[in-house]
Amino acid sequence: MKGLLSLASCLGIFHTLVAAATIPSYFERSPSTPRKLSVAQVQRELGSRLSKSTIIFGPEDARYGDATSRWNDFAKPKFQIVIEPGQESDVASIVKYCNEKSIEFLAINKGHGYPSSLGSFNGVQINMAQFRTITIQPNGKSAWFGGGVFDGQANRYLWDQGYVTTTGSCDCVGMMGPGLGGGHGRHEGPHGMISDNILQLNVVLADGTAVRVNNTSHSDLLWAMKGAGHNFGIVTSFEMKVYPRGPDTWHYHNYVWRGDQLEAVFTALNNFHGNGSTPVNMTTNFGNMLLDTTVSEKEPVLWWTFAYRGSAAEAEKLLAPFNAIEAVRDEQGDVPFPQVAAAQQTDENSAICQHNKVRITATAGLQMYNLTAERLIFEGFKKRIASDPTLAAGAVVLHEGYSTAGTDAQNPNDSAYPFRDDHHLMLVQIIIPPNNKTIEQEAWKWANEVRDQWNQGQPTRPVNAYVNYANGFESVEEKYGHEAWRLKKLRDLKAKYDPFNRFRFYNPIVGKKTAGPV
Ligand SMILES: Cc1cc2nc3c(=O)[nH]c(=O)nc-3n(C[C@H](O)[C@H](O)[C@H](O)COP(=O)(O)OP(=O)(O)OC[C@H]3O[C@@H](n4cnc5c(N)ncnc54)[C@H](O)[C@@H]3O)c2cc1C
Repeated sequence: MKGLLSLASCLGIFHTLVAAATIPSYFERSPSTPRKLSVAQVQRELGSRLSKSTIIFGPEDARYGDATSRWNDFAKPKFQIVIEPGQESDVASIVKYCNEKSIEFLAINKGHGYPSSLGSFNGVQINMAQFRTITIQPNGKSAWFGGGVFDGQANRYLWDQGYVTTTGSCDCVGMMGPGLGGGHGRHEGPHGMISDNILQLNVVLADGTAVRVNNTSHSDLLWAMKGAGHNFGIVTSFEMKVYPRGPDTWHYHNYVWRGDQLEAVFTALNNFHGNGSTPVNMTTNFGNMLLDTTVSEKEPVLWWTFAYRGSAAEAEKLLAPFNAIEAVRDEQGDVPFPQVAAAQQTDENSAICQHNKVRITATAGLQMYNLTAERLIFEGFKKRIASDPTLAAGAVVLHEGYSTAGTDAQNPNDSAYPFRDDHHLMLVQIIIPPNNKTIEQEAWKWANEVRDQWNQGQPTRPVNAYVNYANGFESVEEKYGHEAWRLKKLRDLKAKYDPFNRFRFYNPIVGKKTAGPV
């Protein structure tokens, strides 16, 4: 009903129509005609081909703000029209229509994607919000998920039914956004990444063909969808393994340390992770350098959170080296798994999930922490607190350490995900005021400095940028792997499945590299 009403209201709005003749065809490789799309025209031409629950609206609609809001406003895609398909089959029709009219299209779920390449998008948003069903299969070993399911939703639903699966760690993030690029999260120690658990997907290809992708149907594409999938299609639904949910509670322990403990903390972390041998149930620790003025106005603190899949007694035995480091404060507790996100400040209400901010980011993939590099990064932060308090107030230097047994157990050649040797994911994130070029340039300088310090701390390793954390200014090798065979395979598959590069807005494998920020 809601869909019908909105359809009707959209039909009532008339805009200047684009003369169809001025629009280059799909087969013209680089459509360049400036376009002003008309909601009324799209409604009229496409509406009758779509299910009744489909919603089509433009910027004048009250829902447009929510549908197009982004986690990062740095490189916002331009959405002239939002289409929320009501049924999976609608996606193929939308893609075909867009191709006929030479209109760009982009699938969007929870709006956290942020590579700079998104900033060049101008066209129709295909919003996955109506694809949020989860259906556990009768054998209890897998479930089908709609292409718009998101982490918190999946974790809460499955837990209540006695199951878990691999998701990202932040409740607010979609499952396919991370999953198509790997998908790190709290169950990767026990079970691998999101992509490692995908059994099959329903995918709409660039030409609007809907295909089933699994080990026997388009198996070459299955390889690509697990690590480079944003470049290949729109996932309308997917089947993933699910697992019995395990212990009823997880233990968390959060610490705040002062900077003078930095060497002790990173030494303990390196011992604890053992270069890839983290105890499997010590699933996750996130650590931030950030400004907490209740502790110090002159230097950042080290805020760290650990999540253990099991009892406090088991966890605290493993955490003894951290308990031995004098903390400013700490807190711990035991909660059912779906509440761990709130305990670790990654639930929907947490600061990290908030939208509509301009964020400057840079990432690195590490095996071990280099104490000299971490000290330099800390001192660089301290320097900015004195010289540039606006910048420092918005900065978070994030260190992620998952247990990696499940991820390491996979053959690295079996999927496009290239970085199984990385044990730690790093992300520097600086929130800046909008429209201030000077501050922006300073932020880029700082973010790149931190990234370089991380990479210089492991001089014998290649520079890696997890595709879902990449800011888009990295090279293709840094995002998709340094092995020549891997890139050739990806490019060959791209030529086969998306010869006109319709899926090029999320860290493209082929096409122009985005120019650097400064
Ligand atoms: C706050 C925050 C927390 C994060 N936590 C994690 C984490 O724990 N683990 C991790 O691995 N990564 C994490 N990331 C990175 C995350 O994987 C990417 O930002 C991801 O792209 C977000 O997906 P989304 O649906 O939220 O965003 P969107 O912007 O909606 O989607 C991002 C891109 O994914 C593609 N896409 C989304 N859905 C589909 C679909 N159904 N079919 C085809 N393509 C699709 C599109 O190309 C789209 O541009 C996090 C990012 C943020 C900002």
